[in-house]
Amino acid sequence: MTFDAFHADAAGLRFALERLLKPALGSDPTPSLPAMLPAEGIGAERALRELAPALLAQAADLGAPDAFAHMDPPTPWISWAVTLWTASRNQNLLHPTTAPAARGLERSVVDWLAPLFGMDGGHMTPGSTVANLTALWAARECRGIRRAVASEDAHLSIRKAADILGLDYQSVPTGADGGLRNADMPSDLSDACLVLTAGTTSRGAVDDLGLGDDAAWVHVDAAWAGPLRLSARYAATLDGIGRADSVAVSAHKWLFQPKESALVLFKDTAASHAAISYGDNYLAVPNVGLLGSHGATAAPLLATLLAYGRSGLAQWIDQSMNYAERLADAVSTNRSLELLAPPQTGVIVWRPRDTATLGPAFDALPQGSTSRIMILGETWFRNVAANPNVDIDQLIAGIKDAFEPAGRRGINPPAEE
Ligand SMILES: *Cc1c(COP(=O)(O)O)cnc(C)c1O
Repeated sequence: MTFDAFHADAAGLRFALERLLKPALGSDPTPSLPAMLPAEGIGAERALRELAPALLAQAADLGAPDAFAHMDPPTPWISWAVTLWTASRNQNLLHPTTAPAARGLERSVVDWLAPLFGMDGGHMTPGSTVANLTALWAARECRGIRRAVASEDAHLSIRKAADILGLDYQSVPTGADGGLRNADMPSDLSDACLVLTAGTTSRGAVDDLGLGDDAAWVHVDAAWAGPLRLSARYAATLDGIGRADSVAVSAHKWLFQPKESALVLFKDTAASHAAISYGDNYLAVPNVGLLGSHGATAAPLLATLLAYGRSGLAQWIDQSMNYAERLADAVSTNRSLELLAPPQTGVIVWRPRDTATLGPAFDALPQGSTSRIMILGETWFRNVAANPNVDIDQLIAGIKDAFEPAGRRGINPPAEE
């Protein structure tokens, strides 16, 4: 007997594709899933029907005209198609025999991208959380670091990595612009990995990438802003990144990839990989890094780069940056609003001058357009330029509307002093 579930069912796949193309089709209710593991299945097509609302219709549309809130981008359709292909073949990059070709694809993607950061190789990880952990692990093995030093605005994954690796963690205050400055640096970094952030999560600040001459290892967490290196216009924002020993970049942020997709890159990949490799006797090639079995995450990224090229991605990024600058201009010229700082990497942080109106003001903003963050214990609004298809005029109008004088809808501007 053979099991049909493992053979392509053209009608079933066509149904799945139809629902993808028309997510709002029909009025399927949210599935009420059985509380317990079902003893008998309902069949593949009914299961798809049940799950379509949660996975398609009710999912936020990250490419919608008003989506400008988070570091999660819309994904190009070619990445959907290639993800379906990779799921069907389930290549395991741990074993060359089950992934004869996919290992080469990952190498190509890394070879294409690493030089933009002055690195000579690396590998893919499921996110920059894992990329940062991997980099600090390599730093500990290669240089015997005992401390991780990072700015107070560094991502929590750095502290997490330090905890896992048994490193002391030292947080350094940032300057007024949210970046690390020379004056605030600890005097002795000879036993430390200095972690510099290129594009902080809260406000998009870039640490001085020239810091750390005296550090045992320098790691740049470029999870968010790393892809600016693809843009002729904005690459210089990250000048100096090539001085680092390692770099983390999330492909599921500004490289527009489905999760989970990121890269950890090294200045000296041979030495770094050797330090974090294990070769069990059942493996044909050593297992490099944190993951055991892992899939062809590189394939959708490679397909996207092959289809649209560096110039295509740079256009998406440049367009997003242009929208960020227009939004920042609109905020800074609105007397009801306060812009924290001009955006360096497409993260716009602002709030109403009358902070008593923060709550209602946020609720009056277009749904899903804006996120809320805390900086130094205070609440701010944040927009993130991850969506090149945002309708920025509509969003600016929506923000203006939310702060119209009473009598119209929205919040009162503060009284003139
Ligand atoms: C998002 C982010 C991370 C974590 O990356 P994931 O891909 O979400 O694991 C690390 N550092 C910075 C600066 C980030 O913005």
